[in-house]
Amino acid sequence: EAEAGITWTKGVCRFCGTGCGLLVGTKNGRIVATKGDPDCEVNRGLTCLKGYYNSEIMYGKDRLTRPLMRRTNGKFDKNGKFEPVSWKEALDEMEKHWRAAYQELGPTGVGIFGSGQYTIPEGVAVVKLLKAGFRSNNIDPNARLCMASAVVGMYQVFGVDEPSAGYHDFERTQNIVLWGNNPAEAHPVLWSRIIAAKRTIPGYRIINLQTHPTLSSRNADVDIIFKPNSDLAIANYILREIVHRGCYDKDFIDRHCIFATGPTDIGYGMRPTDKFAYPAEKDTQAKQVKKVLSEAEAVGQRRRPGEAVEQKHAGGPAGSHWHITFEDFKKGVEPYTLEYTVRVAKGDPDESADSFAKKLKMLADIYCDKASRVISTGCMGTNQHQRGTWINESLYSIHLLMNKQAKPGNSMFSLTGQPSACGTCREVGTFSHRLPSDLLVANPKHRAKCEKIWGLPEGTLNGVVGYDAMKLLRGLEDGTVRFLWTQVVNIFQSTPNSTHWLRAARKPENFIVVADAYPTFSATQAADLILPASMIFEKWGVYGNGERRTNGWPEMVKAPGEARTDVWMMLEFAKRFKIKECWKEQKLPGGKTLPNVLDRARAMGIDPEASLYDVIFGNKFLRSFKWPDPKWKGRACGTAEVLGDGWFPEKALYEEYWQFTQGEHQICHFDESILGHGIVWPYIDGKSISYRFNGKYDPFCKGADFAFYGPLMKAIPSGNLDGVTDKTPKPLPNRAKIFFRPYADPVEMPDEKYDLWFDTGRLMEHWHTGTMTTRVPELLKAVPEARLYMNPADAKKRGIADGDRVKVTSRRATIYARACLGGRMPVQKGITWGAFFDQNVQFNQLCLDATCPLSLEPDYKKCAIRVEKA
Ligand code: SF4
Repeated sequence: EAEAGITWTKGVCRFCGTGCGLLVGTKNGRIVATKGDPDCEVNRGLTCLKGYYNSEIMYGKDRLTRPLMRRTNGKFDKNGKFEPVSWKEALDEMEKHWRAAYQELGPTGVGIFGSGQYTIPEGVAVVKLLKAGFRSNNIDPNARLCMASAVVGMYQVFGVDEPSAGYHDFERTQNIVLWGNNPAEAHPVLWSRIIAAKRTIPGYRIINLQTHPTLSSRNADVDIIFKPNSDLAIANYILREIVHRGCYDKDFIDRHCIFATGPTDIGYGMRPTDKFAYPAEKDTQAKQVKKVLSEAEAVGQRRRPGEAVEQKHAGGPAGSHWHITFEDFKKGVEPYTLEYTVRVAKGDPDESADSFAKKLKMLADIYCDKASRVISTGCMGTNQHQRGTWINESLYSIHLLMNKQAKPGNSMFSLTGQPSACGTCREVGTFSHRLPSDLLVANPKHRAKCEKIWGLPEGTLNGVVGYDAMKLLRGLEDGTVRFLWTQVVNIFQSTPNSTHWLRAARKPENFIVVADAYPTFSATQAADLILPASMIFEKWGVYGNGERRTNGWPEMVKAPGEARTDVWMMLEFAKRFKIKECWKEQKLPGGKTLPNVLDRARAMGIDPEASLYDVIFGNKFLRSFKWPDPKWKGRACGTAEVLGDGWFPEKALYEEYWQFTQGEHQICHFDESILGHGIVWPYIDGKSISYRFNGKYDPFCKGADFAFYGPLMKAIPSGNLDGVTDKTPKPLPNRAKIFFRPYADPVEMPDEKYDLWFDTGRLMEHWHTGTMTTRVPELLKAVPEARLYMNPADAKKRGIADGDRVKVTSRRATIYARACLGGRMPVQKGITWGAFFDQNVQFNQLCLDATCPLSLEPDYKKCAIRVEKA
């Protein structure tokens, strides 16, 4: 009875990468309830707290309903107050500032900061607008801040960025090893599945490797508490054990793998002014490892052509790894004895060395047992890491050596934080170095394929990798970027060292547009113009979760007031620029130029006087998707209705992207994604493929028992290099790489002045910067503020009691918080933790903006702070 008059429609949760299916209840034009979709294989009817409250996130009292611009006396004024303006006034002002920055600085003078919460159609729209229209690769999503190390790790190892297993492996394995992730808070429904498996599968174990105990510790069989950054030493210890025990699968390695390494001194991607500490080379063991590597390099290390190009494509510097022999690999891991690893990695001062050593040995036993099945999970702990790419690579190395990858119950598996970090940022290619479906901007063949599908003249796409997330922000500071448009993201709260970027945003020459549903910290503090955006069930959308599952939903309710979809905003903006101003010769930093392609455009029948909207978004294929869509009679589409020219952009953009995936990873069609309950790709003849690279399951292996393939692999000559020289004419078949990557101390560690470690992350109740979940009264009441979690002994030493207000200082900022001594994050001595959801307690201001030099992902997981009673 309580459900009388409610219409239930299939939807997706937008609050983490798990990708739970929802049933969304609407009544009288409002979302009134959400519950788990029992037909979705991911959650089987479950949701966590956040999933349940998807129904309330759209109805905060301060929902934005009109564009707001800083003005004085009716004119734009950087120092003025926000006033409501019409969409025309908003877009006019945007156009003026964008054009000025674009004309003066070229395609790199403007940028868009996107999101892993973009739907797939939104991702396609932004990639087309920037990369094809404006010929700028300056689009990077917040997935750079959470997934990039996993992405580059996969590129390096497999030549393609695609997870090879699925969530079903949590129930097919016997051991889950959590490498620095806390699914009890961050992936609660997956955690429920893991706990259920533990209760029903005899001998099932959960091994929890963390820098401090977390909520996941409560259900773990063993907690292994390691010093920040030293997971790499632990991984090398396991690799050494595998080699010493001789338990590796020689046949598999000989046929399918190759060994690799690279130079140690590759930096930390820090802002030059912040180069205050560089302890990495102090460690004598690290020096010894470096010596081994230098010797290997000196003898040529069989560097092979193609490697440098590959690394550059992945976003990092060129030439950062090369192939080695198994003997070289053995030399690399040899220093990581149990004794050395215990010395480097033991993270709890109250734990004995013996106890820690026993746990490491037990971990090695699990991996070395040929018969035992193991799933290793990585997430923010492995990705937000100064050596994030390396730790990802090393975990794959363990699995590959043991032939425990891409098999039921056996895999290294990267969890994703956001609902479509995989589907949109990675698969569609909203990273600054990527194009759709694993193609890369720096590869001419990839650009040519993209130009063909998009109907662009040859040479339109820019082959120079765009600015990554941190470089976009640094660009605002150093004057190389003057216009930034943020979409579905709150970067002036979420980025590390964020006070810098806020100051940069307010420089008079910069223009910042924030498109959001609420007046977020970024909107109110950094923006010059705020655009009111539609939220999840107010538009058609499709997400891709962390196990290659594509799941869509239809528009269910109208957005309030004049709020519009991000797709509409981009399409409308594209109407204001002509092809002739974007496709002429353009200068790029560093003396490179983009060619004039206007003649080629004319030859293809494209009028240079036409707008980007008409050309980029107006090809025959796209316009063949009409609105109203006969398939979806009775449904609404806000974007199509406001646009009013009879096409269905969300479906059209998705279907155009679908073409890229054919013969590669084959996603389902748009309508199937809306009607289905989450469809895993590759999706061939109505069936999903559960394991990539494994010939038993994956038809792309073309008869081989294993095959590692992908657009990068095709470009790389590889193979077992024992006895092979650079003169060897023919490449051997494609192989996965087993990397040796040495441990080094992190760039900043506690010292006399800043004597505690600090780590940051998420709590179950709040999503990211809390812009939606803090507007749900029940969630806010459950956790009203972010606190600094401290060990009681550390607090006592400083005269701090539970609940006291404390002053927290790092080399970058000072903030105030209340202390929490224990609770759900019972940290050991020497380390502290805080969640970043609270705009009144901005923990991320403390964080270091050092990045993994290969993935360019910043490290939020370790920096040094001082805590005093306030
Ligand atoms: Fe949503 Fe993640 Fe919770 Fe599932 S586990 S309901 S996707 S927040």
